[in-house]
Amino acid sequence: MRSPKVRELGEAIKSLVSRPVTVAFPAKPAEIIEGYRGTPYYDEKTCIGCGACAQVCPAKAIDMADDITCSPPVRRFTVHYDVCIFCGHCELNCTTKTGIRNSSEYDLATLDRSSLFSSIEKQLVLCEGCGAIIAPRDHILWTADRLGTKRFANPTLALVSDGTLGIVAEATTDASDPALRPNSVRVICAHCRRSTVVGELWG
Ligand code: SF4
Ligand code: SF4
Repeated sequence: MRSPKVRELGEAIKSLVSRPVTVAFPAKPAEIIEGYRGTPYYDEKTCIGCGACAQVCPAKAIDMADDITCSPPVRRFTVHYDVCIFCGHCELNCTTKTGIRNSSEYDLATLDRSSLFSSIEKQLVLCEGCGAIIAPRDHILWTADRLGTKRFANPTLALVSDGTLGIVAEATTDASDPALRPNSVRVICAHCRRSTVVGELWG
């Protein structure tokens, strides 16, 4: 067996004439292999704002914040790339499967960490009775779509989804008593619906 020093010298001479085993990045872009998990990005069209991605993120890299003071009220998602570990769990567990996707982007080097984020906003639907958050509008539409005609069992689902078709103008309401029948055909939260139904049945 050759002594270690001779072997290392041989390796050094060989490497002088052979191609480098390292990549030439940043002089040349690195080669991206299939299935590479790079910077995750939201898709405005297919994200419904449910928040599952923020819940499963092991690094807590996704902030989810509801803002009901702006008009319209919104749920804002922000992915912080300086915290993200590029595990892909957000994409894997996304309710719609394509609301957030890991791109092939990998070069995030910067001297300004505060620039390492991207965000998306989804419009919220508020209860017409108490003002509580019901859900993002796109989430309600997605649920109504999957339920088909069964959505008519829930006035909130029916009003929000058919409102987009322009076949529901404005719900009839009677402010004199929240328990009156017209008030149940409104976009209201589960708590207000329960009060309305219980009031309707038992006064
Ligand atoms: S639809 Fe997907 S990306 Fe959008 S909030 Fe839900 S889990 Fe996250
Ligand atoms: S890739 Fe992983 S760490 Fe990054 S935002 Fe998605 S779930 Fe969080």
